[in-house]
Amino acid sequence: MPGKNTKILATVGPASADNNTLRALVEAGADAFRLNFSHGSHDDHRAVCQRIRALEESLGRPIGVLIDLQGPKLRLGTFAEGGVTLARGDRIRFDLDPTPGDATRVSIPHPEIIAAVGPGHVLLIDDGKMRLKVVAKDEGVLYMEAQTDGRLSDRKGVNVPDVALPLSALTAKDRRDLAFGLELDIDWVALSFVQRAADLVEARELIGDRALLMAKIEKPSALQDLDAIIELADGIMVARGDLGVELPPEDVPGLQKRIVRLCRRAGKPVVVATQMLESMISAPTPTRAEASDVATAVFDGADAVMLSAETASGRYPAEALAMMSRIIASTEADPLQRQLMEAVAADPRETSTDAIGTAIRAVAATLPLSATVAFTASGATALRIAHQRPRSPILGLTPSQAVARRLCLVWGVRSRRSPDACAVEEIVSVALEHCRNEGLTVPGQAVVVTAGVPFGTPGSTNLLRLAWPAGSGA
Ligand code: PGA
Ligand code: MN
Repeated sequence: MPGKNTKILATVGPASADNNTLRALVEAGADAFRLNFSHGSHDDHRAVCQRIRALEESLGRPIGVLIDLQGPKLRLGTFAEGGVTLARGDRIRFDLDPTPGDATRVSIPHPEIIAAVGPGHVLLIDDGKMRLKVVAKDEGVLYMEAQTDGRLSDRKGVNVPDVALPLSALTAKDRRDLAFGLELDIDWVALSFVQRAADLVEARELIGDRALLMAKIEKPSALQDLDAIIELADGIMVARGDLGVELPPEDVPGLQKRIVRLCRRAGKPVVVATQMLESMISAPTPTRAEASDVATAVFDGADAVMLSAETASGRYPAEALAMMSRIIASTEADPLQRQLMEAVAADPRETSTDAIGTAIRAVAATLPLSATVAFTASGATALRIAHQRPRSPILGLTPSQAVARRLCLVWGVRSRRSPDACAVEEIVSVALEHCRNEGLTVPGQAVVVTAGVPFGTPGSTNLLRLAWPAGSGA
């Protein structure tokens, strides 16, 4: 039985870091894990990564690992009494003095915020629970007015939606975390609070080719530079948590669809994240609205959906994973989903790989296919075929462990390792053998095989073969 096409990225945390839960999550359909560097120590992350690699070994198939860097998460200073309660219209000063605050003032230890904002701009505190407006500004001081009743307390997060801050997406902590993470055996690095395409350049220089780079879209300023960000990133996350703080929540659904569509057009993997099965943090079943939310991402053709606190710290991590898998399976079985995949056909580029990808679609419309097998050295061939969202499963065969793991977040691709140099005459037998092992052969149904020969030249896809498993005629 072919697996699901839409992948699941599960966040690891205290509720799931042990061997048994990690295994249960993979068995329930997790394709890749997120290590969230906003929480946990380096020792914790190292131990989890080692457990995932051991699990991968024992299951004999790749598992993707993504490290998520915290990024410039801005915070208030502290209060002498832990916090203050404000009513709408109350005034308070934000300054750079680290002395614990009171009802008249508190420190905001980020001079760049004070420099960047001015009268009329809004600051959001504690995931947007509290809104304050800048009414005036002096050297190193902001005079704020509460727009809502609420409470400010120690080290609560600050969002500044109205301006692009002159901050690098990589803080000193991120640089340390990244250097540490790259020493672990990881596949993807996610960058938080990306504001502009240039943020990715800096990260890419540090990462080199040791991992792929995912840009988290959670700042309004990123939306201004979205095309360039998608172009420069290897993948995109629709980070709806912070996005929905910085922008009105009612704008998030439309933006999600727009980002997913742009990524699909560009052939860049896109992950829809945050609050997908939020109520399963504390309940064994989701709300109907949450089930519908997961299905929406699947209908839109997102590459992956993510679980956050549901698997990191919730009471029902394996149940949440299994529920997400079931929603995906049910949605992918819906003929409407197939129609939608066909309707939003991706524009092929003028490359031999895309020419072959388009040909595979045409073959699939003519003959029943049980699988497409792509021999892929860099992963690019599998990615471009997935871009076309074909009807039958894609089996990506690669000699590279890293490529096999990176493909775990790509729609429809099952990646497996296969030794590099097989002779052209062996391509079909090797492909069929892998298909048999994966349960991807169906009597009477063809398998499409694609490769670039001679092997080892990325971007040289030039071969398309049809093959039938033994015992079934053409
Ligand atoms: P986070 O990112 O969980 O690291 O905040 C995702 C989001 O903001 O949606
Ligand atoms: Mn976020």
